[in-house]
Amino acid sequence: MRRSALQLAARAVERRLNADHCDGQSPTQPCSCGHPARFAGRHPKTFQTALGPVTIERAYYHCRACGRGWFPRDQALGMAATSLSPAVTRMTGSAAAVASFATASDLLDELAAVRVNAKRVERVAEALGREVAAAERAAVFAAEPPAAATMYLGVDGTGVPMRPAELVGRPGKQPDGSAGTREAKLVVIWTADQLDQDGRPVCDHGSVSYSAAIDSAAARDTDPAPAAFTQRLRREAERRGFPQAPRRVILGDGAKWIWAAATEMFPGAIQIVDFFHVSERMWEVARALFPADRDSAEVWAEARCEELKAGALDSVLATLRAHAGHCEPAAKAVPYITTNRERMRYAEFRAQGLQIGSGVVEAGCKSVVGRLKQSGMYWTKDGAEGILALRACILGGRYEDFWAWRTESRLQAAA
Ligand SMILES: [Zn+2]
Repeated sequence: MRRSALQLAARAVERRLNADHCDGQSPTQPCSCGHPARFAGRHPKTFQTALGPVTIERAYYHCRACGRGWFPRDQALGMAATSLSPAVTRMTGSAAAVASFATASDLLDELAAVRVNAKRVERVAEALGREVAAAERAAVFAAEPPAAATMYLGVDGTGVPMRPAELVGRPGKQPDGSAGTREAKLVVIWTADQLDQDGRPVCDHGSVSYSAAIDSAAARDTDPAPAAFTQRLRREAERRGFPQAPRRVILGDGAKWIWAAATEMFPGAIQIVDFFHVSERMWEVARALFPADRDSAEVWAEARCEELKAGALDSVLATLRAHAGHCEPAAKAVPYITTNRERMRYAEFRAQGLQIGSGVVEAGCKSVVGRLKQSGMYWTKDGAEGILALRACILGGRYEDFWAWRTESRLQAAA
């Protein structure tokens, strides 16, 4: 019913566009090689639009000197080198960012009566995501002033399953020493001026933005942060006005290279080891100490977490050291705490009204990177980065800005 109504509208658009021959009025058009290109007839092409398929006859110009040919109308409509209209491309990106490519294809058909098969959804979404990433690198999105007096920046990494060809020669954590994944690094920026019932800061709704990519990782914990990552971190921070915020907080896990980069780029920012990671460590020790007794493990882990929150680091260290000889996770947790002592002054941080690990970054890892892990797919670096950039853009509320810029820059290129 709706599909047939859309088809009526599509026929009207078709008639109107095909009656208009102004795109072929002049016998020649200048070619970029300097020679004139000649009008070489009108040719039909079917485009997938928000109204369904629309077949348009367009003037073709061909340059004999260099062999280049083009359709001025395709360029004017923003559909050169594609058969999807900008609206369908945009919808495809929206759907692919929240669902698998197959589900996105079904959603487009169900909600918009637009048919784009799953393979095509994948190609379009990945290409669109690469455009988003390029726009981000070119800093086309305007920098904002800081959104609050206190701003938070979190960094975390999580593995994305990759195709074997993408992993050749990379050391990894699999039993044979090879890698099955590459690490996607997520930068999350937010504010937390709102308080919950207990007076603790909670993430402000709509304040979260993301940046995610598979930058080459530091090979060892003590290596400096890879340049692609630090550049991306700087761009994202500057876009959100993070460096200008009166109080800046950086939350991360224990990786040394993250703190080295943070110290260099944002001197004076408060560094906090995300409590989420610390509590994970305590749970790991607890499970090793009480492998068959979940209740005891829980009591032990929660007691250590409470001590950490209360600032009793020495007490936690004493307990860990007592187990270090027979429990590897306990032995490893000791230097983790001693080297990060300054970043684990949780009682002080909480007294200052700061978040010590709200799960904002963890939630970001799930929503931005998670689908790449759940889909059962093995990714290419290009494909994964396209989808990561697309999801970060949409979930961070920048899709509208991206499309405004894309439309404007295409109109300028066609003019
Ligand atoms: Zn030419």
